[in-house]
Amino acid sequence: MIIGINCGHTVSGQPGCGAVGRIDESVETRHVGKKLMELLRAQGREVVNCTNDYASSTSANLAEICRLANKQYLDLFVSVHFNAGGGRGTEVYTYGGRTFNAAEDAARNIAALGFNNRGIKDGSNLYVLRHTSARAMLVEVCFVDTDDADKYLKLGADKLATAICEAITGTNAPTVTQTTEEYTSTNDIIWELHHRGIIGDKALWTGYCGSDVNVYWFCRKLCQYVRTKPTGEHETDEYADAHDIAWDLCHRGVIGDMTLWEAYMKRDENVYWLLRKGLNWCRTH
Ligand SMILES: [Zn+2]
Repeated sequence: MIIGINCGHTVSGQPGCGAVGRIDESVETRHVGKKLMELLRAQGREVVNCTNDYASSTSANLAEICRLANKQYLDLFVSVHFNAGGGRGTEVYTYGGRTFNAAEDAARNIAALGFNNRGIKDGSNLYVLRHTSARAMLVEVCFVDTDDADKYLKLGADKLATAICEAITGTNAPTVTQTTEEYTSTNDIIWELHHRGIIGDKALWTGYCGSDVNVYWFCRKLCQYVRTKPTGEHETDEYADAHDIAWDLCHRGVIGDMTLWEAYMKRDENVYWLLRKGLNWCRTH
């Protein structure tokens, strides 16, 4: 499991730095984020530091964070922030407000330390959620400008980092906990995908898997994903655009390389329908 951690914003006082209230966001994102990286590494997780300390502007800072996140495959990208504006509590932003265990548990674990749980919020307009290709969440630990900050100082950054770490390592994302043994034989994989109505023509896809290693691995990973998918979603609109389909499958960890699959879908109509129907199953079950 490879996790990208971003200590939000540049360092204090620089272009792109965070909010300042009773505590300084740029300082505290680094206290929490660095401890979080240390805890994850201590548990044997591979960690990529996606923090950018110095930038010419906020937009340059955000672009650099995404470059650091996207230059390798990540199972999860986590950006650590603190909120401002006079509220109380913790909230976690995901693309489309999608819920997954790490995001829900991060909000729940932080709330358990004595903060309001403001829940999962739609962060579709947040740059680092829009432009990272891995599954992503942005954690607003608490507010810098209310008595949240006093609670935070009393607890200390390490307790907050531990709460987020436990949310990440306890996640049921299919790439993390594979308690269901993965099918490796083409026959088993194709049978399963056919049984679930994702593919129609078993012979066609058996042939593909035999001759194209990418398609074999896609079918294998999709099969494992659908067999271990933790929670039901009730989306109704089917994605038709190759970019949207690749992006969503990548966020789910079914594919690693968005660009490869987007191009493949545009080149081969069978592959387009395989990914489209595969994703649609994931979004509706
Ligand atoms: Zn922030």
